[in-house]
Amino acid sequence: MIADQRPVSSFSQSDPSEQSELAQRVESLRRQIREHDYRYYVLDAPTVSDAAYDALFRELLEIERRAPHLVTPDSPTQRVGSSIAATFDPVAHRVPMLSLDNVFSDDELRDWDGRVKRLLAVPADIDVEYVAELKIDGLSISVTYSDGRLVTAATRGDGLVGEDVTPNIRTVRAVPLALPQTGPMPRPILIEARGEVYLPHDEFARINAENEETGAPTFANPRNAAAGSLRQKDPRITASRRLEVFFYAVGAVEGVSIESQWALLETYRTWGLRTNPHARLCKGMTEVLAFVHDWSQRRRELPYDTDGVVVKVNGFAAQAELGFVSRSPRWAVAYKYPTEQVRTKVERIVVQVGMTGALTPVAELTPVRVGGVTVSRATLHNEDEIRRKDVRVGDTVVVQRAGEVIPEIVEVVTEERDGTEQSFTMPDRCPACGGPVTRLEGEAIARCANRDCPEKLRQRLQHFVSRDAMDIETLGGKRLDQLIDAGLIRDPADLYTLTAESLMPLDRMGEKLASGIVEAIGNSRERPLSRLIFALGIRHVGSRTAEALADHFGSLQRLMDAGEDDLAAVPDVGPATAQSVVTFFADPASRRMVHRLLDMGVTGRIPEDAPSGDAFRDKTVVFTGALVRMTRTEAEALVRRHGGRPSGSVSKQTDLVVAGPGAGSKLARAEALGIRIIDEETFLALIGPLAGSR
Ligand code: NAD
Repeated sequence: MIADQRPVSSFSQSDPSEQSELAQRVESLRRQIREHDYRYYVLDAPTVSDAAYDALFRELLEIERRAPHLVTPDSPTQRVGSSIAATFDPVAHRVPMLSLDNVFSDDELRDWDGRVKRLLAVPADIDVEYVAELKIDGLSISVTYSDGRLVTAATRGDGLVGEDVTPNIRTVRAVPLALPQTGPMPRPILIEARGEVYLPHDEFARINAENEETGAPTFANPRNAAAGSLRQKDPRITASRRLEVFFYAVGAVEGVSIESQWALLETYRTWGLRTNPHARLCKGMTEVLAFVHDWSQRRRELPYDTDGVVVKVNGFAAQAELGFVSRSPRWAVAYKYPTEQVRTKVERIVVQVGMTGALTPVAELTPVRVGGVTVSRATLHNEDEIRRKDVRVGDTVVVQRAGEVIPEIVEVVTEERDGTEQSFTMPDRCPACGGPVTRLEGEAIARCANRDCPEKLRQRLQHFVSRDAMDIETLGGKRLDQLIDAGLIRDPADLYTLTAESLMPLDRMGEKLASGIVEAIGNSRERPLSRLIFALGIRHVGSRTAEALADHFGSLQRLMDAGEDDLAAVPDVGPATAQSVVTFFADPASRRMVHRLLDMGVTGRIPEDAPSGDAFRDKTVVFTGALVRMTRTEAEALVRRHGGRPSGSVSKQTDLVVAGPGAGSKLARAEALGIRIIDEETFLALIGPLAGSR
């Protein structure tokens, strides 16, 4: 909560006491904004809403506009973003990456159009050509291609120097590692292609649910989740998250000439750089405003967050004429949509039990409409989060939908308290089974320690049959509960022992339905191995990790026998995941269950396209250094598909080493052992002409 939000009213330069009060206010605003910038840009964990932040920023701007003598070069109004985290190497942008000025109403947008016309000496009754684009709520990224190859990727940082996130960006599938050589537009000698990395809603929800289960911190909204996922020391974590990208701007460029924003977007598409399909070329402000109004509601149907519309002068010559002010261009502006926030009451705080026993407190709210839907529950994530926000039962709270999707309690309206509110404490017994609750040192999450907790079992089974796992549709919701309550299933393997006869005694069960259920369960034997692995509900193993594990080990038995080192050698698998897989299979109950699954023919199918050649038949192949045409995961999958075995370390058993730029000790070792060393191009040539294309 912001302690002091008084607005500035009027002041005079001559009154010294007013002057010093104003100077103090300016200092206080700058301090607060810097603190919020740090939390937002460096920690990816803001503590106030964007609207609250914007209000502070506007107040500071307004004071500085009216009292220019108070402006200092280090004021947040003069700079972009924040300093960069020490975790990453610095990358200097060839052309600075700026922020955008904001407007919050049609009138302000019209004023901006008026200013553009004045500066360009365009008569008031002539329309300027604009490009209207959705403002994607993610984080900006600058990807440099040199001779068509991706060489660096950097965050915006302070606008002049960003953070080197090249290995992380290489894992984002939507970012091409090379631009095509042929096409309608020649590829540039050099280009800083700029865009927004973002997380689609479903992936945001998945990551938060996973983090809630594993006790990792949850993200306030998709924007922070995208930033947190990209700015990872370990690119394997980035790889396990489905980040997307839209390109919309350019920094330095050599070797091609592009004359307008609209032409830039078209060219990007021909180079395979993804652009947002909803951008529109507009003649004048009337068309821009129609676009803004049209999307104010429609944007809620998009699978990702947008927080406004960016309006850009189309012609690059006109843009150059307009130029920049300190932190933003004069030729573009962001129209920000208001985030709808409403007040409601916390009626109760209940505790949910997840499949790994994680206890999640959830606020039950007096139902209220926000962002087009009725909201009656909001997760409070964990005990620390409740304490940080100081949410109590009976409190009046401000609610919004985080990134327009997930209901979130922004803050408590403390002025509304009357003393009857009740603080929440985490129960020391599981609300489902009464079993003991433990909270490990350093973890935010409390867990039910009873391995037989019926709620854990129910959640685990629900996960097993869910759409992304074994996808047994007929067992959705109540039906599964019915089977559990009747004592017919206690773990996933039990599902495959069910017969139509065993189901018949159940309530509202006919012969047809019973055999339909048994058939649907039987059909799930055909699901790919990756889904089966995901379905087991191993901590830290999301669907992407499950794919990597399936790809690498090729069978459940081999995965079960893998040690921590074998697992850590798999691309996309970090130490915590490796340990969690080993712990899962070390548990005799899990082993027994998995053996039963295997015995009943639930083995996980290996996709048909598996072997597609034998270029590396029985060969062990090691990759070292950077790859340009594909990610490490893709390269290793290619080896497997061509009969070989990828490995993480060079030994006498290694047959082939594929070395790229930056190769170090593995290359030296391969040379010492006299192992054949090839480059990426040769590797691809060994497989065939289409191997490197995506
Ligand atoms: P901004 O988000 O207001 O606008 C600039 C950014 O928009 C660009 O850098 C780019 O990343 C993005 N963008 C998305 N689509 C675009 C498109 N089609 N064309 C061009 N740019 C596009 O500015 P900012 O400097 O990134 O961030 C400032 C905002 O961040 C604040 O207004 C506030 O809402 C939020 N913020 C919040 C906190 C907090 O504590 N809650 C702290 C700092 C900043």
